[in-house]
Amino acid sequence: MKRIVRTEGAHLVDETGELILDAISSWWVITHGHRHPPIMQAIRDATEAYGQIIFAEYTHEPAEALASGLIEIAPPGLAHVFYSDSGSTCVEVALKMALGFFHNSGTPRRRIVVMEHGYHGDTIGTMSTGERGVFNAAYEPLLFGVDRLPFPAPGKEQDTLDAFEGFCRTGQVAALLIEPLVLGAGGMKMYPATVLSELKRIAERHDSLLIADEVMTGWGRTGTMFACSQAALTPDILCTSKGLTGGALPLAATLCTAAIFDAHLSTDRSRTFFHSSSYTANPIACAAALANLEVWKNEPVGARVDALSAMQEARLAPLQNNRHFADVRRTGTIVALDLDVPGGGYLADVGPRLRAFFRQKNLLIRPLGNIIYLMPPYCVTATELDCAYAAIEEAAQRVAEGTV
Ligand code: PMP
Repeated sequence: MKRIVRTEGAHLVDETGELILDAISSWWVITHGHRHPPIMQAIRDATEAYGQIIFAEYTHEPAEALASGLIEIAPPGLAHVFYSDSGSTCVEVALKMALGFFHNSGTPRRRIVVMEHGYHGDTIGTMSTGERGVFNAAYEPLLFGVDRLPFPAPGKEQDTLDAFEGFCRTGQVAALLIEPLVLGAGGMKMYPATVLSELKRIAERHDSLLIADEVMTGWGRTGTMFACSQAALTPDILCTSKGLTGGALPLAATLCTAAIFDAHLSTDRSRTFFHSSSYTANPIACAAALANLEVWKNEPVGARVDALSAMQEARLAPLQNNRHFADVRRTGTIVALDLDVPGGGYLADVGPRLRAFFRQKNLLIRPLGNIIYLMPPYCVTATELDCAYAAIEEAAQRVAEGTV
């Protein structure tokens, strides 16, 4: 355990003054860097006027301006914004919107389809949609059933599409909930945009909704602002959090189409979208997110994302033939390397040993079992990245020798 006293750019600083490279952006929330100055300034400014403001019958400028700004940059056709405060809650909201849409339209549908290895949060609802295992076994009796698609591994894409078509034919599928292009916490599994486009086409054919969980993939991580745009599609519902405030404060948003919004009439109690939370649209968090939108407009963030993607590719290429890795892959700025160990997987016991190794090296890298991944803030330098890759190669070598 290390006690952190300060953060700066791509680093955490511990109480002994040591710099720790945050190679996973503190669970993928930090995009530009820790304490990015314009976002911190906006937070300071907002505290001059605001604390918390109830967000029911009362509104405020940061929430309104942010909603307009989000609609502007979101895939075209998303027209409304609902605020919450974490990745889990914005997905929970999305599930309720999808089920509410069909209920309110007089054609109730009950099934949610998800992808094998997906992760969408730790509330009872979102846990129900994720993988089952030791981490949620205690709650199993309360989790609801979902239909799971096989992961579209290379050569198996058609199986995924056929399975989805099969589920949809029941006429019971309200929505496909999916992480576009990269399934994060389930092992940084990557699949092509063409599969996502096809899934959307199937959903449309059966009047099912597509919920894009862009909690991890949003804000440039996969090379574009949102991953959905690489499949040239607009989801019916889009979930975003983490990079929404540049990672500075907790905030989340669920964006939806006019059709979904219109199915929820606030004047008709039987059709109201009943979801309220004390801190919905906290004005200081909204001001931070607004400042983040300005950063994207005023600073060359897209160029930084491209540069980081290229740096990652350059370091990844030589590892393709490294015998210690069973697979190495990249989507945009995200890189994953599967260590070739017996009994790999999310819970592989090499995970905690690797974490300790990297902690000793002052590197914040937290492998998912045998899957080592890098998702640094966009301000990381080539030299810093070199250190991370050198440590990863050393770790792989030492795991093979049995000394880690
Ligand atoms: N969805 C995805 C795709 C995520 O990666 C995460 C968090 N890792 C969540 C939802 C849940 O977000 P939070 O931890 O903020 O609740």
